[in-house]
Amino acid sequence: MHQSLSAASIFAKPYPVYASLEQAFRQQPSASVSRIQEIHEEQTIVLFLIKGIQEGPTVWVQAALHGDEHDGIIACAKLMNDIVPEHLSGNLILCPVTNPTAMLAGTNGSPLDGINLNRVFGQNATDASYSGRYGRWLANNIIAYADFLIDLHGGGRWLDVCPFAMVASDHEAAFERSMAALNKIPLIATYVCQSGTKGMLINEVCQQGIPAVLLESGGGNYWTSTAVDTHLQAVQMILDQLGVYPSEQYSQAEETPGMNRKPAQISDIVEMRFETSGLLTFSRQVGENARLGEELMRVLSYPGLEEQSIICPIEHGVILSIHAASTVHQNGYAVMLGKLA
Ligand SMILES: [Zn+2]
Repeated sequence: MHQSLSAASIFAKPYPVYASLEQAFRQQPSASVSRIQEIHEEQTIVLFLIKGIQEGPTVWVQAALHGDEHDGIIACAKLMNDIVPEHLSGNLILCPVTNPTAMLAGTNGSPLDGINLNRVFGQNATDASYSGRYGRWLANNIIAYADFLIDLHGGGRWLDVCPFAMVASDHEAAFERSMAALNKIPLIATYVCQSGTKGMLINEVCQQGIPAVLLESGGGNYWTSTAVDTHLQAVQMILDQLGVYPSEQYSQAEETPGMNRKPAQISDIVEMRFETSGLLTFSRQVGENARLGEELMRVLSYPGLEEQSIICPIEHGVILSIHAASTVHQNGYAVMLGKLA
């Protein structure tokens, strides 16, 4: 049932510790790993810097920006376990737990304010909340040190997601580089995020000309090997494509049948919420296509005890994420559809 994590002890090795990324970049020898403990408003954020043997781009890989999305944390451990600094051209910054207070609380947002940390950027930027201030600190660090951002997400405790990518398109050259880096990854879809639509971190970073992708995989109350490996493989393929960490396995992937099927490119999504609280009695699977009028989900309402259906409202779509727990709450998030041509 529950998977074990053989790579867990990788985080706990006795690496040299630095108080800031700035200090680590200045003092850490090449071909080595360090642990960085940054403090922001009394919270400790743990990062790892893997410095390569040769010069090259710095790739920032982070997970658990949403505290209840666990698969990416384990993917970071596995990645760290696999990387040999002597073969790395450039640097890797790993932030396995990007939103520590939220991860410890098991919630999407920090319990300090309950705000979704991936909605505090761009037009939503604010110093009035902890998440707003922390988001600014995080983005500033990424912009100062990274040449590429990989932001690992999952469905969280209530949702399943299929493997898909969100790509920021705020800066044309950065967008092109992001799309090129995703080229060989077997994704269901890529969602091109227009500038400033949601206040997301990837848009904020991309505006500075830094390619930024958000990768979705997994969901539920416990991480799974499948979702972890999907994340791990995607990150490894990006590192290979960027020339930061070449991997023979992926360099030859073009010839592997099924590996390079083109993901659907989506520029429009439809989000639907539950009209009633109750019990989920039927739902479709993530990754499936849906046509206008088809039933996507069914809820046994309470106190009415009547079944109500959620129907596909668009001509043709792909189910990117869907509620995956028996309990449903009125106005809770039900399904996200990507519009297909
Ligand atoms: Zn997320």
